[in-house]
Amino acid sequence: MSSVERRDLVIVGGGPAGTGTALALQRLAPELASEALLLDRADFPREKPCGGGLIPRTLDLLEALDIPLSVPAVQIDQAEVEAGGPRIEMFSKGCCWVIRRWEFDEMLLEVARGRGLEVRTGVRVRDARREGERTILETSGGRIEARVVVAADGSGSLLRRRLVDPSEGWVARAVTADVPMEALSPPDAYEFDFREVPRGLAGYAWSFPCWIEGRPHWNVGVYSVRRRGEGVRIAELLDRRGATAARRAHPIRLYEAGRPLAAPGVVLVGDAAGVDPLLGEGISHALEYGRLAAVEIAEAFGREEFDFAGYTQRVARAPLGKMLRLLGLGARFAYGSKGKWCLRLARLSRTAQRIGMNHYNGVGLWSPPVETLAARTMERSTGAAA
Ligand SMILES: Cc1cc2nc3c(=O)[nH]c(=O)nc-3n(C[C@H](O)[C@H](O)[C@H](O)COP(=O)(O)OP(=O)(O)OC[C@H]3O[C@@H](n4cnc5c(N)ncnc54)[C@H](O)[C@@H]3O)c2cc1C
Repeated sequence: MSSVERRDLVIVGGGPAGTGTALALQRLAPELASEALLLDRADFPREKPCGGGLIPRTLDLLEALDIPLSVPAVQIDQAEVEAGGPRIEMFSKGCCWVIRRWEFDEMLLEVARGRGLEVRTGVRVRDARREGERTILETSGGRIEARVVVAADGSGSLLRRRLVDPSEGWVARAVTADVPMEALSPPDAYEFDFREVPRGLAGYAWSFPCWIEGRPHWNVGVYSVRRRGEGVRIAELLDRRGATAARRAHPIRLYEAGRPLAAPGVVLVGDAAGVDPLLGEGISHALEYGRLAAVEIAEAFGREEFDFAGYTQRVARAPLGKMLRLLGLGARFAYGSKGKWCLRLARLSRTAQRIGMNHYNGVGLWSPPVETLAARTMERSTGAAA
């Protein structure tokens, strides 16, 4: 008979949501974090189809965790937006840093490992179910019984489907490719192109400069809030950007208020829970979910209660949930029948442009730093706070 491993806390997924949860927990509840196990089916470094754009909010979240950006990155100082009519140019120093995910995700994983996290890569969760007070994970490395599981297993999350919410939900699609370029030419700019919206694309095309193995490239791509039915149009848009080969498509699960984000013994984070419907940005949200989940888990172990009944509501009421709801409304507006009006406003109003940019970058809208959350958790668990 094969043996069963018993753990208090298992994090499934080593992307930014999984490592973000572990890193926040290492701050909030170090003893708990040192007992946790993180599993990923991939061996790292692993590829993840992504533009790799880090908004300033992501850098703030990394700084709060004492993590310098130590992988190759292109600093973007200018945003260029095609909305029909003259191109909109906004100079904004450091409005984005473009990284490659195989380097970035491995960096985060190694920091978490260096701070004491137990990591097992090349281990796939094949099935999951609830039995009494425990969640049973059937993995390629054997059975694990956990008191708490963090589902950080991405858009197609098996854990979400098995344990929390079997419905498909709102799923977008993005297709991307890397195109070599001659040289970077400062000020480095990224481009968002919304000109296909009036012709029916529920999304946009992008071009981000990036480094791949020391050589400059464009990462180009197309995002659509519709998972299906845009294939031909997306292919044409990529052709126009010179992306003739090695295209990679990937779903992005989008946040919808009201969908459950937890069940007894399980919390969802990152793409498994749902990210930004307007632009499909998800790295900052993955880290932000990680912070919220860490607080939730630390409190649950403090009380020895693992139903996570309030997590969905707490995410919805947190700045993260409010922001994602707003972005969802924005997506329904911008890619629906009001699309032309949104583009006109973006063309004509500098104020609208600045508000849009700040909102996208997460400037001035967000939640308190991890230290404040840690203090709040300590107060709550010692009963010192009201
Ligand atoms: C083409 C494209 C472009 C994008 N561009 C940007 C961008 O420029 N900026 C931005 O912020 N966001 C972007 N996003 C979104 C961003 O990539 C995601 O929001 C982000 O990766 C979410 O992180 P995560 O940790 O939740 O999931 P993931 O990064 O997908 O990590 C999930 C992990 O779980 C593991 N896993 C899955 N299933 C199992 C299993 N059964 N057992 C064990 N392990 C498992 C996977 O191997 C993976 O490592 C883009 C997305 C796409 C598709």
